[in-house]
Amino acid sequence: MTLAGLLKEGRERLKAEGIAEWELDAWYLLEYAAGCTRSGYFMHPEQEVLPDREQVYRDLIAKRSSHIPLQHLTGSQEFMGLSFFVDENVLIPRQDTEILVEEALGVLAPGMRVLDLCTGSGCILLSLLRLCPGVSGTGTDLSEKALSTARRNAEHLGIAADFCQGDLFENISGTYDCIVSNPPYIASREVDALMEEVRDHEPRMALDGGVDGLSFYRRIAEACPDYLEPSGRIFLEIGYDQGKAVAELLRPAFEEIRIVQDLSGLDRVVCGVLRS
Ligand code: GLN
Repeated sequence: MTLAGLLKEGRERLKAEGIAEWELDAWYLLEYAAGCTRSGYFMHPEQEVLPDREQVYRDLIAKRSSHIPLQHLTGSQEFMGLSFFVDENVLIPRQDTEILVEEALGVLAPGMRVLDLCTGSGCILLSLLRLCPGVSGTGTDLSEKALSTARRNAEHLGIAADFCQGDLFENISGTYDCIVSNPPYIASREVDALMEEVRDHEPRMALDGGVDGLSFYRRIAEACPDYLEPSGRIFLEIGYDQGKAVAELLRPAFEEIRIVQDLSGLDRVVCGVLRS
């Protein structure tokens, strides 16, 4: 079968199965399975695909049809221009989270220390360390399995970072210049209404933020002053409707509180400076 024939077959199957990004996903999987680039495809769409590659593509399309996320099939996701390994033990890095990284980059300087709570794949911490030479950092997660993926990412990217298992600050000592976190923030009863890819294939513990979705913010806001240097900064990713509530949680201990929007104009990050 030719590249063009195989792509057509993949697109049709994914569309028929109601996969939201059927067009893009059929492409990505073809590039992955047949080892071709998009420009290569357009130069030779009639190129024959080896039978074993053809089978790999069909298997991947079948898995994607059953709502397994694309990134679990290819094993990776780009974030801040870096490639991260992902698996079922970590949240797949989201483009929206790049806003948090960009905000934190604005204040980090060589010699500073950063703490990433609920590090998951390590995408936030490792991007900060790569883009801010001279900064050191620690990532924590409750899940030992998530931490092994984060460590694998650090090793693959050649970035030195400390990772530590624990419930938020449980095993953290000392102080940091900056705390960042994208904690679980979906209200428990809303998790079941998420799209199948997320609900059934991403770790529930990375999504579920308790009854009102705010339980991690409450715990972080209460404990973090003990782990910040004077005038230390905090950057928290939030859900689109949580800006006010999270800003209020930070208000007792923080000043210069700002809510930052993402590229769709939705509230996405709350940040503040520890009150002296
Ligand atoms: N920090 C990771 C990310 O932003 C994981 C977040 C989480 O597990 N809630 O992708």
